[in-house]
Amino acid sequence: MPSLRDTIALRLSRERGTLFRDAPFRVALTYPSPYRVGMSSLGFQVMYRELNRRPDVVAERAFAPDDWAWARKHREPVVTYESQRPLGDHDVVALSVAYEIELAGMIETLEHGGIPSLREERAPGHPFVLMGGPLTFSNPVTLGAYADAVVMGEAEEVVHAVMDVLVSERDRSRQLKLLAAVPHVWVPSEHGASLPSIAAVDDALLPAHAQIVTPDTELSDMFLIEAERGCSRGCRYCVMRRSTNGGMRLVSMERILSLIPEDARKAGLVGAAVSDHPRIVEILDALVDRGMSVGLSSLRPDRLSDRFVGALKRAGYRTLTTAMDGPSERLRGTLERHAKVKHLERAAEHARAHGMTTLKLYLMVGLPTETDDDIDECVEFVGALSRVVPVALGIAPFVSKRNTPLDGLPFAGIDVVEHRLERLRKGLRGRADVRPTSARWAWVEWVLAQGDERTGRLVRDAVRAGGRFADYQRAFEGIAGGRRRLSVLRGAAEP
Ligand code: SF4
Repeated sequence: MPSLRDTIALRLSRERGTLFRDAPFRVALTYPSPYRVGMSSLGFQVMYRELNRRPDVVAERAFAPDDWAWARKHREPVVTYESQRPLGDHDVVALSVAYEIELAGMIETLEHGGIPSLREERAPGHPFVLMGGPLTFSNPVTLGAYADAVVMGEAEEVVHAVMDVLVSERDRSRQLKLLAAVPHVWVPSEHGASLPSIAAVDDALLPAHAQIVTPDTELSDMFLIEAERGCSRGCRYCVMRRSTNGGMRLVSMERILSLIPEDARKAGLVGAAVSDHPRIVEILDALVDRGMSVGLSSLRPDRLSDRFVGALKRAGYRTLTTAMDGPSERLRGTLERHAKVKHLERAAEHARAHGMTTLKLYLMVGLPTETDDDIDECVEFVGALSRVVPVALGIAPFVSKRNTPLDGLPFAGIDVVEHRLERLRKGLRGRADVRPTSARWAWVEWVLAQGDERTGRLVRDAVRAGGRFADYQRAFEGIAGGRRRLSVLRGAAEP
């Protein structure tokens, strides 16, 4: 395996748009997952550009190691890409946390970088640890023992107010007091568990778009740009529903097309509900006419007209991916989804007509009130779809999140979810490809999604014990004694 420095040099040589700068105040913009994942995050790229717009600040990127076992064995430090400085040599380590399971990567990346992850164990000479990212839209309280401050929600504007304080005031306790007065900034040591509101940026700042294009990411060589922000729909499990930050904010077709470089070969249109953009098919057609392939981050089945699917095929799609959400029409109704049987049937017909190889459907199991009958309906329905076009199911167990109407609901239970997955697998054997994510890790995600600061602290215990599922199970027993373990096994866990 090449050394970290060789890997960094190779990746830098293949990037376009990297910013090499210097300034008196240094920020290590750190992603708690490896480079391939972090560089696919548009939010991370936007922060990179925003911070480097300031003459008084330089921001360099750092990532979790590609291979933790290798990094530990060879004592490879976490260093920034642009100048290969260790995290500890920075004034600020700014971490973006996407979802609950990334807490482990956040803790390990800080500690591997020589910075105590717990705030109380850091000395005044350690960097200021600033956090933000998608997790702040639901439940960031589990970050409370680790972060000095957390930017809540859309950070493009707030991050400048934070930097103004950190650059001008170097005393840690005064920094915290000043930041506690900045709107949308949560300072756990000052505010406790009481969270400020989520920031929404001025529409004039949209769209977010990539600073760096690289072949070494999940979305190889793709220029990422936001086509819209937020969503006008109201799915009851979703953090990005219309009540969050005022619903959907559109970017005009003209603006999107003008920002995508003429020489880009691939464009990724990003947003919670990109297919709801009223001019999405025209945008696709215009980009295809430039000779580009295009990817969309989300496709709603009720939007998939014949013309839309045809445009996707010309844009390079081989698999038509959309959301089925619940296994039965009844459950989709309870989630307030717009995906109906007729939409999914129509999507399958269009996929076949346009020569797609597969229809990929995402759905959740372990939903409130779900029974085996719902799973059996899913088997019958997907079996019928598979006679039209090959079908793959991407399945995730339902996890209730804060800031949604389904907040606080229990986890169905690992055994219940595994039973339902097995029923689906058996029923669809030979007819559809069934690819579930882990029920066990969904339970860990649920404990953290519903957890508090103390729950967040327990992640460090689990990480130190080895980070396996059993380590989390043991660590979380401390929250409610043996009750939680028993409830997990019996499928009746409680928050
Ligand atoms: S699941 Fe999708 S369509 Fe539904 S509210 Fe969330 S972003 Fe919108």
